[in-house]
Amino acid sequence: MHPKIMVVEDEEALSELLRYNLEAEGFEVEVQARGDDAELRLREEVPDLLLLDWMLPGLSGIELCRRIRLRDETEKLPVIMLTARSEEAERIRGLSTGADDFVVKPFSVPELMARVKAILRRSNPQKISSQLRAGDIELDRETHRISRNGREVRLGPTEYKLLEFFMSTPGRVFSREQLLDGVWGHDNYVDERTVDVHVGRLRRAICRGRERDPIRTVRGAGYALDDKFATA
Ligand code: CA
Repeated sequence: MHPKIMVVEDEEALSELLRYNLEAEGFEVEVQARGDDAELRLREEVPDLLLLDWMLPGLSGIELCRRIRLRDETEKLPVIMLTARSEEAERIRGLSTGADDFVVKPFSVPELMARVKAILRRSNPQKISSQLRAGDIELDRETHRISRNGREVRLGPTEYKLLEFFMSTPGRVFSREQLLDGVWGHDNYVDERTVDVHVGRLRRAICRGRERDPIRTVRGAGYALDDKFATA
């Protein structure tokens, strides 16, 4: 699962430039052009990082940032504010909006990318690193190779994505619906039972003999990567 970034920017040329460059770096990108629309979307789904313009129609970036910090779900969401001029940046800094970083327009794209990655590394090291490890299982996001106890494990593309999804957030329980969204994508209308089928395949592929099952089935809730397994 790639880190998800929401870009809230009403200048289309700029939001497209950001989308292009972020996607090229392997991020999943969602663009919102209005502050109020972004606020509604953030109630549905919390990304891994927010790039937030200061001047926005609907609701200003500052006000949105303030509201984000008041909600438990988004209290720790990393926010980088984009501002038009350095004097604005100084003013915003003084307003203590709760933003993690400020970038002044026009900015250099490589510098912004570096800041995005630096903040993500701090807030979510598991998500940005190419090597994921849980117990005796290792997954390399660059080569798509998986090994358990030193032996190579071969998985189909869906099982690979499922395992990557679980390993990027060990311990967290995902509903079948969340797994469908995260692994199959929003636009895919797949039956929820499909999730059970692929989790079953993943288990069979990854467990040999008496090896422990890394996936927990949580009745009435969904599935998780067993946190006891992950830290073993
Ligand atoms: Ca603007």
